[in-house]
Amino acid sequence: MARQRKGEVAINHNYCKRCNICPQFCPTKNLEIVGGKLVSYDRCIACFACERYCPDLAIEVVKIYHVETTPAG
Ligand code: SF4
Ligand code: SF4
Repeated sequence: MARQRKGEVAINHNYCKRCNICPQFCPTKNLEIVGGKLVSYDRCIACFACERYCPDLAIEVVKIYHVETTPAG
């Protein structure tokens, strides 16, 4: 069984100016601007890229946990 890192991000919508930088750096395409608002899905792996590249400190990783995954096949 493999351990996979999962994360959860918090978006501060007051600070976020929807510049679309973080979605471009997110390796799992967990972030997207939908209807003029940044949304996150459930694919975060807590890599901290969004936190690092956001010029407005509008997004942060708030939770990191590990899940056991059974390899397919
Ligand atoms: S921490 Fe990494 S995986 Fe999670 S939303 Fe940010 S860029 Fe994407
Ligand atoms: S980089 Fe920051 S300001 Fe830009 S869309 Fe992402 S959270 Fe919002």
